Amino acid sequence: MKVNGYAATEQKAKLIPYSYDLGEIGSEEVDIKVSYCGICHSDLSMINNDWGMTQYPIVPGHEIIGEVIAIGNAVKNVSVGDKVGLGWMSASCMSCEQCMDGEHHLCPQSEATIVGRNGGFADKVRGHWSWAIPLPEGIDMSKAGPLLCGGITVFNPIILAGVKPTDKVGVIGIGGLGHMAVKFLKHWGCEVIAFSSNPAKKKSILNMGASQVIDSTSTEELESINGKLDFILNTTNVSLDWNSYLTALAPKGKFHTVGAVLEPMEIPAFSLIMGEKSVGGSPIGSPALTKTMLDFCVRHNIYPDVEEFPMAKVNEAIEHLENGKARFRIVLKNK
Ligand code: NAP
Ligand code: ZN
Repeated sequence: MKVNGYAATEQKAKLIPYSYDLGEIGSEEVDIKVSYCGICHSDLSMINNDWGMTQYPIVPGHEIIGEVIAIGNAVKNVSVGDKVGLGWMSASCMSCEQCMDGEHHLCPQSEATIVGRNGGFADKVRGHWSWAIPLPEGIDMSKAGPLLCGGITVFNPIILAGVKPTDKVGVIGIGGLGHMAVKFLKHWGCEVIAFSSNPAKKKSILNMGASQVIDSTSTEELESINGKLDFILNTTNVSLDWNSYLTALAPKGKFHTVGAVLEPMEIPAFSLIMGEKSVGGSPIGSPALTKTMLDFCVRHNIYPDVEEFPMAKVNEAIEHLENGKARFRIVLKNK
């Protein structure tokens, strides 16, 4: 089957129309006709080869919403015509301890949708059935794409850290991931403090449910909340004053990063020792938790704030994100 997409052929290149053949479908594979695809910062990092693992040409895109158009003969969870989502991962081995435990996102053999394979800035995409997540009835497909990567990435830490509705929490960086985190945590029942470097976003962030917006780059402003937060989620990929954030944690507080900070993060041991604090991180979340999150979103009408671009304007859309102008997640739409 022929796929028409947009690919970067070298580091930092603009995307150009690119066609490739999917070959015959495997017995456990699912082909999806792409309706929408969100743009995650990880797409930029892959185009730019920030992580040294990009294989060119690369068709980015891993926040995919579409319709199943073909399935292999061993696929059980979806049928042709079903509406599904496909996120950062497209395959797991299905036999390791992690997969058998329902933690497919921790499978050492897992395959990412845009690492060594082609993603959703295209009319079609292929994945293993385990990662083709059936969409719940009534979901708004035009806004659901970003939930498949950004959404589950910030939802999973809430479960991992055991965040309680009575907790006071913080979210650093109110971009694609961060704004979904603010919405989730607000609906969870928490008091949410947002840390943003962009004063122009303040009003929107308060409308999302944050009780306060603090300048994420100001050590002085951070001092005002010393010892107050039970949980802090970092979604930026830049170096900030991490020690001040650890100081902002209450005793037993947890700092969790999902932002792929490029430089090593400086974490002074004593900031952890005093107060039994901990630091962690995580990649996306399991297929089962992704399904649970989608149900939670439909139940509470939680969606990302989306700016829609036609798929053909993918380069304009990427530039918009690169310039820090996205409010708050860009979604590409196929005709
Ligand atoms: P994004 O939409 O670009 O948002 C990132 C936010 O970080 C920006 O909106 C900005 O928020 C803040 N920021 C950027 N530059 C900054 C600077 N110089 N100083 C202070 N703050 C700055 O990106 P995203 O799509 O949300 O992705 C965020 C990160 O998560 C990326 O590293 C991405 O690769 C990673 N990611 C990880 C996973 C995972 O599985 N762990 C999954 C998806 C994405 P303010 O304007 O509010 O300051
Ligand atoms: Zn992503």
